[in-house]
Amino acid sequence: MKTFDQYIEQHHTEFVAELKTFCAQPSIAATGEGMANMAELVRHTMSDLGATVQLLEIAPHAPKIVYATLGQGDKTLLIYNHYDVQPVDPLNLWDSPPFAPTLRDGNLYARGVADDKGHITSRVQAIRAWRATQGELPCKIIWFIEGEEETGSPHLEPFCLANPHLLKADGCLWESGEVDEMGRPVLYLGAKGLLYVELSVQSLSGDQHSSLGTIAPNAAWRLTWALSTLKSLDETILIDGLMEHVAPPNETDLTLLKSIPFEEQKKMAQLGIDHWVGNVSGYDALTRHIFQPTCDISGIESGYTGHGAKTILPAKAKAKVSFRLVPNLEPQRVADLLRQHLDKHGFNDIQIESLSYEHPGKSDPNAEVVQAAIAAARQTYPPHQPVIYPMMAATGPVWPIAIAHGTPMVGFGISYFGAHIHAPNENIRLADYFQAIRMMGRFLANFK
Ligand SMILES: [Zn+2]
Repeated sequence: MKTFDQYIEQHHTEFVAELKTFCAQPSIAATGEGMANMAELVRHTMSDLGATVQLLEIAPHAPKIVYATLGQGDKTLLIYNHYDVQPVDPLNLWDSPPFAPTLRDGNLYARGVADDKGHITSRVQAIRAWRATQGELPCKIIWFIEGEEETGSPHLEPFCLANPHLLKADGCLWESGEVDEMGRPVLYLGAKGLLYVELSVQSLSGDQHSSLGTIAPNAAWRLTWALSTLKSLDETILIDGLMEHVAPPNETDLTLLKSIPFEEQKKMAQLGIDHWVGNVSGYDALTRHIFQPTCDISGIESGYTGHGAKTILPAKAKAKVSFRLVPNLEPQRVADLLRQHLDKHGFNDIQIESLSYEHPGKSDPNAEVVQAAIAAARQTYPPHQPVIYPMMAATGPVWPIAIAHGTPMVGFGISYFGAHIHAPNENIRLADYFQAIRMMGRFLANFK
């Protein structure tokens, strides 16, 4: 890989310039700003790389998928990325304009630089360096780059399930990854799923004078009582039958968990707390964090919450509730159990609207694509060993892209703990960026 590394060094300036070009093009999925131009820039870049590229329509008026294929080989690698970014507000908190990529102290600041444009360009550049120094790619690559990730990929699942031939691969490289505070590369082998619902209740035809609280129902109480049946004070989810479906971590998962450095005192200090919920600690807390579902109230709205007093009986109340899902807890199953639970507890007046969902998904750690990434991480970051998360505590569309088709996945990449993803001053350290390009080269060498 010596000539590969030399090529990367020689093209340092050009690689950074290309990354800046990507970041200078706005592509905000939520507003549509710059989306078509960004898709075109990605298409053009892939085409220049020698790929066969198509812009696929996922739904009418939705941002197109850039679908590229390149290389030949016995194995096929599927790469998943996204070219859309989060909105930039609050704009006044940015030290430099979000779409004017700016270099400060070795870090590049721009919206989307870490999530996810730097991942796209770093992989493009690794492939370019490979071809210039090693010859033809050792495997076939299918590259699937969507434009709706930051709005929850609303059209992705039906498209992927209807077009499995477009995603057929031996392994999938996920959109992102990072190094931790110690400089250890962090690998992800899956992601939790999600069910996000709105619970609402209307108990009266309209808000009333609160003197009627003696004999008329209060929507805020109805909702609060219903919510209080979902979880106990010791943070156990009480929805009937839900926890019985949770797949426990297997031996390999537990071994991987033990290798994750969990600096809990530091983490608690950051959060301003002195113990975890349920009074778990250490390894138990980490196991709970990765392998247990959540049931959380994201927001509640009812009645009067303005300045001073207003004595009313609210007619309506609503709450947003999110569930992060682990294997065997499918979104529809959780929605059904929630309905049954509320009915059984006398809350059939509470309406449930499902706002978004994602299936959980997790790979076999022994899969070739995972092993290739582990070997590449060891070769790129010595003396550090990779930190391997059997699953992210967060959510991404790993199921429709990879797991539903039996494809194992692994994520690694350019980001770091201070990247401010989704926030003002999103940034990467260029040193990490170039390490990730080197790792991508080694990953290709190992995945064949
Ligand atoms: Zn994101």
